Amino acid sequence: MQTTPASSALHVFKFGGASVRSAEGVKNLARIVAAQTGPLFVVVSAMGKTTNALEGVLEAFMDYRDTEALTRFETIAQQHRAMIEQLFPSNARRAVSERLEALFTQVHQLIDTATARDDYDRWYDRLVGYGELFSTVIVSHYLQDQGLPNRWIDMRNCFVTDSRYREANINIDRSAERLQQAIAGAPESLFVGQGFIGATATGHPTTLGREGSDYSAAMVGYLLNAESVTIWKDVEGILNGDPRLFDDTVYLPQLTYLDAIELAYSGAQVIHPKTIKPLQNKHIPLYVRPFAEPTKPGTVICGRIDRPVDVPIRILKQRQVLVSIRPKDFSFVLEERLGDIFSVFQQYHQKINLIQSSAVNLSVCVDESRYLERVIDTLQVDFRVVYNQGVELLTVRGYDQASYARYAEAPGVMLVQKTRRTVRLVRKAKNDQTS
Ligand code: ASP
Ligand code: MG
Repeated sequence: MQTTPASSALHVFKFGGASVRSAEGVKNLARIVAAQTGPLFVVVSAMGKTTNALEGVLEAFMDYRDTEALTRFETIAQQHRAMIEQLFPSNARRAVSERLEALFTQVHQLIDTATARDDYDRWYDRLVGYGELFSTVIVSHYLQDQGLPNRWIDMRNCFVTDSRYREANINIDRSAERLQQAIAGAPESLFVGQGFIGATATGHPTTLGREGSDYSAAMVGYLLNAESVTIWKDVEGILNGDPRLFDDTVYLPQLTYLDAIELAYSGAQVIHPKTIKPLQNKHIPLYVRPFAEPTKPGTVICGRIDRPVDVPIRILKQRQVLVSIRPKDFSFVLEERLGDIFSVFQQYHQKINLIQSSAVNLSVCVDESRYLERVIDTLQVDFRVVYNQGVELLTVRGYDQASYARYAEAPGVMLVQKTRRTVRLVRKAKNDQTS
């Protein structure tokens, strides 16, 4: 990386867990970073499946199975130690090992000294956010080792969030200044910060929702007025369907912000839903590019595209529950109670993915969640509630006759909603791989 004048505009790169799951991946990251000129802010997720593994530690911990929690954590620590051995020659491991071990000690202390374990979401954020601290320490030291001097940024000091634990929102005004301060006066023009984490104004660690590192990268881009944000992924770019779920996918070179927002909110896992809006507000282009083939262009998401998308885009949200709610008797019209019903879902942070209502019946499609039972219990006080598990929600944007017939008229479809552009349907989950 060359040093460039401080005035030149900053770019943001985000590398997901899959990109940094192996030593090879971290080396590839370093090559991509080295090839970039100008100031660069690198946002990194936890390595591989570390976040899932930390969730496992948390489960044990919340059940007061501390020995198991510590054993599980030891596996994670060992994976990171192994990573260091593969990336650094033995005479250059000391600094990075010491920093990592200090973080491991913090986790041990957290587990050892905890008394009450009542607030799951808050404990989640205290513990599970460590994955990104580990990965960025390793990446930052490795880049340094490769002749890429950089500043490690602690995003808990930069992103000030609300206290909606596990799904925290970044406060723009309070974070802008903090982030600018964090990068100010750096002799280096390369920064390495964690995705997924922040902290409340009073310093309690928070996380931004699973897969939230994209959102982190977008917010860094937004707050620092970046030239562009690039998400490096293990896919060619954005396709018109998840290739693991659909067998006839094509790659889309360009998408509008609007397309991308709809895609993300319908459940396309390629980008986190909160990512697009901040970038759209400042007209910052978002690139989704293949990590394994950095010379390929990937997909660009921007305000105006010169080739409209001419194939139906399919987004499948799996592990859904279809909940139908009706009054216990017909003494009142359901419509008048919609506010009460929605507030129950909101109280348990249960996101609603689709709504269909009539005078006497309301159906909603929601993610399977640990809180759903409580939502249903609460609703059952006043309403008759039935639900179907094992369903999925399919959105087809830009459908044509053929795709309509193929999906909406297929067996197992329980509910269809159609607008001019988009058809959405709830169907029984399929067991086969592709559809
Ligand atoms: N490490 C977090 C997760 O796996 C955040 C992310 O990867 O974006 O959900
Ligand atoms: Mg991840």
